[in-house]
Amino acid sequence: MCARCYQTAAMVFDIVQAGDPVLRQRARPLRTEEIATPFIQELIVSMRMTMYEAPGVGLAAPQVGESLQITVIEDDKDHLDMISPVRRAETRRTPVPFTVLVNPTLTPIGDETDEFFEGCLSVEGYSALVPRHRAVRVEALDARGKPFTLDLVGWPARIVQHELDHLAGVLYIDRMDPRTFTTGENHGRWWKARPASEVRARLTP
Ligand code: ZN
Repeated sequence: MCARCYQTAAMVFDIVQAGDPVLRQRARPLRTEEIATPFIQELIVSMRMTMYEAPGVGLAAPQVGESLQITVIEDDKDHLDMISPVRRAETRRTPVPFTVLVNPTLTPIGDETDEFFEGCLSVEGYSALVPRHRAVRVEALDARGKPFTLDLVGWPARIVQHELDHLAGVLYIDRMDPRTFTTGENHGRWWKARPASEVRARLTP
């Protein structure tokens, strides 16, 4: 059990911030029979609630203090409607239904990469340009322990790459272009609508 906060009922967790060693450990895979236990089922519900509350489009178990290979993702249509169609097209951002990924593995599809600003609920208040594979295949178990495969392109592919990194103890700051690291305020003020090439040109001597 999580020493921080876990109780018997689902709840919203505090999100662990950078510097906590749990974010830098490789998370433990679950045994299939473990997935159905009340502890794991309540953890999944609480992770979902915590993701909504944040709000975020993905959350990994280490971010709530549990070094386990579980992540939840969702990018719903209402949220996407608040983003301009031009920006959605640029970032290839499409709705992702609520999905639980247990013991996920990832394989890139093709060689193409994209670079966009990315942030993390565990590195609160900042973002940076991060290159990611444009398309990936994810194989995982669902919340009932049933195997499934997802092929994802664009922003959904970025979300799963970010979340699966958490399960390996990796944060986006390990992959970012460090010269583009910015506060949220400065991102909105200077960089939000600019293509990666222009951002880099302005920030590289
Ligand atoms: Zn994150």
